[in-house]
Amino acid sequence: MLGRYLPLPGVILALVGCATLLVSGVDVMVVVAVLLLWCGSLWLVGAQPPPPQPKAKNTAFSRDTMGEMIEHSETPILVTERDRVVIANLMARKLLGAHAVGQDVRMALRQPEAVSLLDSGGDGSAIVRGLSRRRDIWRINRKELDNDVAVIELVNKTAESDISRAHTDFVANASHELRTPLASIIGYVETLREDVGNLEPKVGEKFLGTIHREAQRLEALVSDLMSLSRIEAEKHELPNDEVNLSAIVESAARDGAGTDRISRLDFEASDTFLVCGDAQQLEQLVRNLVDNAFKYGRSDETVTVRLHPKGRARVRLTVSDRGDGIAPEHIPQLTRRFFRTDPGRSRASGGTGLGLAIVKHIVERHRGRLDISSKLGEGTRVEVLLPLAKTEN
Ligand code: ADP
Repeated sequence: MLGRYLPLPGVILALVGCATLLVSGVDVMVVVAVLLLWCGSLWLVGAQPPPPQPKAKNTAFSRDTMGEMIEHSETPILVTERDRVVIANLMARKLLGAHAVGQDVRMALRQPEAVSLLDSGGDGSAIVRGLSRRRDIWRINRKELDNDVAVIELVNKTAESDISRAHTDFVANASHELRTPLASIIGYVETLREDVGNLEPKVGEKFLGTIHREAQRLEALVSDLMSLSRIEAEKHELPNDEVNLSAIVESAARDGAGTDRISRLDFEASDTFLVCGDAQQLEQLVRNLVDNAFKYGRSDETVTVRLHPKGRARVRLTVSDRGDGIAPEHIPQLTRRFFRTDPGRSRASGGTGLGLAIVKHIVERHRGRLDISSKLGEGTRVEVLLPLAKTEN
């Protein structure tokens, strides 16, 4: 019926009307015509059937649906009814234990900051420490749905706060590293200015030498800091220039050795290896590793640099020295900025404490792997694996 229907009350009214006409003596044909017109117009106007009535609200069903919706969220979520936990999703059960369901939410969360947020009622948020582990930081958000039901979301802020602490530590360390040579330069310049007439030429010469060395240290530090920030900024951009790694490693290893140590450099590449890379950064990586190998290796020993294939898709660069080596407990920390096993030795040899942090970031940008192995009293071997460029056959 094209979605139309004859409303029953209208039809009854039409029949009653027509019956009245018949009783009052109107011609039967006229009455039939009136009835047809009446019912026909009712059909044409055709009111739509009344909309279906909404089903009665079923709270058990909506609670189940809500539970299913939040179950696999990566954020721990609780639903409370009159402050009792009625739903805890998977992450919330992992965080607080399955027994949290059915508990008073203040008992489940326990922390004083959380309890005072919950006691205050209504919407709001609070920062809570040590919810699962001592150093954890969580933000608790409470949103009331109606008078009895509330949703409590627990957002883990630990990583964010670790990043911000690492940032603060980095600024503090960098400032300290910059201030030390600067203080030394200022001290010597002041002495020179005060005693300019009385200083023996030899002493003056020595002071100038120190100022020059400290200024060079400052320059190296600023240049490494700038490299690090540039590499970090590009970290997620995969380099797409195809470069000849064998040529880059050979020339950078020579640079890293310098003219006075070149005779102790032993370089060998088994082939020409092409990689997708940033030539400048790869040079810097090799220079830093070779410089370290000479700095911390014994002064009469050879530094070995090798390039060999690793499987069919990667190339392996190794830089090995024979020297004092590194204690196993220090190895995981070597790529941290400003970490040194022997700060005096590093500074005396012009080290900034940033060389391996730069290497790590360059390797990450090139989707490679860095591995440092060392034996105390024997020496250190640094291995870098890089993916080979895909050559078309
Ligand atoms: P630095 O400028 O101090 O050399 P790096 O980041 O290059 O800074 O290295 C960090 C620390 O790692 C160094 O201070 C040193 O203690 C240790 N290290 C790095 N390479 C070697 C190596 N080949 N042999 C022994 N120790 C090394």
